[in-house]
Amino acid sequence: MISEKIECIQGDITKISADAIVNAANSSLMGGGGVDGAIHRAGGPSILEECRKIVAKQGGCKTGEAVLTTAGDLPSRHVIHTVGPVWNGGTHDEEQLLANCYKNSLHLAADHQLRTIAFPNISTGIYGFPKDMAAAISVQTLNQILQTDNRIDKVFLVCFDDENYDLVTQELGK
Ligand code: ADP
Repeated sequence: MISEKIECIQGDITKISADAIVNAANSSLMGGGGVDGAIHRAGGPSILEECRKIVAKQGGCKTGEAVLTTAGDLPSRHVIHTVGPVWNGGTHDEEQLLANCYKNSLHLAADHQLRTIAFPNISTGIYGFPKDMAAAISVQTLNQILQTDNRIDKVFLVCFDDENYDLVTQELGK
């Protein structure tokens, strides 16, 4: 049984009101295309300013890890920036690294008393991760944590495109 705390919705993550939304960032934390560009555009310059401070302190963010900023002008309160793996044939630990993104983002939220969190389909855009595998990893990883960690009330998987929406919905029904 998949936890009822996980909900799949279709839409634009910048419109979501949650304690935190997750950004599929790159390791420089300096913005990019896709959902990263959309979040910085809609959230305004204060998010990038905070990212700059994090980079100055710790020198970017490694693949699979996550950092927290506030959310500027977005309806959510915080942004968790995590760096998904670039798909490179599947033999470079991509699956584990993608699972780490979900795990570390959820733990970071919980450690800051954030109880509702929205994820995009990390790595399934420019980074080329197969969408079916990514859907399974996202649902299974989140479900495993939610079974034992009661600090999170709700996780939204926000799918931008029909294919991801269908795959995640299927995965939730398993
Ligand atoms: P990555 O580099 O991790 O692949 P992308 O931003 O290219 O990141 O894509 C990740 C996913 O985010 C893709 O499935 C893409 O369709 C989706 N996406 C793009 N814009 C938005 C948005 N505004 N809200 C939610 N998801 C989005």
